[in-house]
Amino acid sequence: MIVVMTPSATREDIRRVEERLVELGFKTHTIYGQEKTVIGAIGDKKVLSMEAIITLPGVEKIVPIMKPYKRVGRELKPEKTLVRVGNVTIGGGEVVVIAGPCAVESLDQMLETAKAVKAAGAHILRGGAFKPRTSPYAFQGLEEEGLQYLVEARRVTGLPIVTEAVDPRDVELVAEHADMIQIGARNMQNFRLLKEVGMAGKPVLLKRGLAATVEEWLMAAEYIMDAGNDQIVLCERGIRTYETSTRNTVDLSAVPVVQENSHLPVIVDPSHGTGIWKLVTPMARAAVAVGADGVMVEVHPDPATALCDGPQSLNLENFALLMAEVQKIAAAMAAP
Ligand code: PEP
Ligand code: MN
Repeated sequence: MIVVMTPSATREDIRRVEERLVELGFKTHTIYGQEKTVIGAIGDKKVLSMEAIITLPGVEKIVPIMKPYKRVGRELKPEKTLVRVGNVTIGGGEVVVIAGPCAVESLDQMLETAKAVKAAGAHILRGGAFKPRTSPYAFQGLEEEGLQYLVEARRVTGLPIVTEAVDPRDVELVAEHADMIQIGARNMQNFRLLKEVGMAGKPVLLKRGLAATVEEWLMAAEYIMDAGNDQIVLCERGIRTYETSTRNTVDLSAVPVVQENSHLPVIVDPSHGTGIWKLVTPMARAAVAVGADGVMVEVHPDPATALCDGPQSLNLENFALLMAEVQKIAAAMAAP
């Protein structure tokens, strides 16, 4: 529910409503607007006695939040959320590019990639130290050693780093090293993990599950926000369909759907979305044209020898070409 306060409501009136809601078992989320203050009451609405609130001084009206996601929806907070990752802002109008290998393999590989993507204009460096692999026999990542290589690549290039946490037990370690924590598609509904990153004090990159609806994806973001973290970027990374010519099907319509319903920024990952490096640049162009707040792509100095996701990785030269194309589309989109 949203409790809308009158323009003349005092701080004391607001505090009294918040207290009453907490007594009734609700969590409150207060937004101080230019003209009016609104208080989101998050909890089980069955226990909300309207009379207990509507009669309090300064209350104008009570409006139900129709969507199941309360905190991530635009009903309670219409303005876009800006997510800060190191010195980079996502959601502020500039198209943000996240680039780097699927997996951290060695210090040399990380440094070479980081320097090249930085020179080409990327904003954030990616690389998986903990890898969620379909096969238990596939390379699982360098774990803590990989985090250290990422930190070294940040030191050398100045690029903030994003890396995945696959288990609640690793969140603290990942948060100590990374500027942003990725939650992978396979873990989108790992609720313990979502709660843990909600408390980790770092921005979160939340990938869409392989077979998740947009509503389920936003509900996953709701878990993170309910745990106290509103610094969330959603990432469309392709969903399972009957189509076999690509690894997944990039659901570009999810971008405007998310933007209509949520204030959180949304980016597109055409690498996992297509699984084929030649399709990555065309789909990155399309993602920018559809209004995405950024793109994330996999880049490797020698995709043929990559330990993970080589077929969908751009080499350094092709990444520079992608940047040039993305910048052209972004400029066209920004033109009056
Ligand atoms: C990744 O980003 O390397 C990854 C494992 O992605 P996803 O969770 O989308 O499959
Ligand atoms: Mn990958």
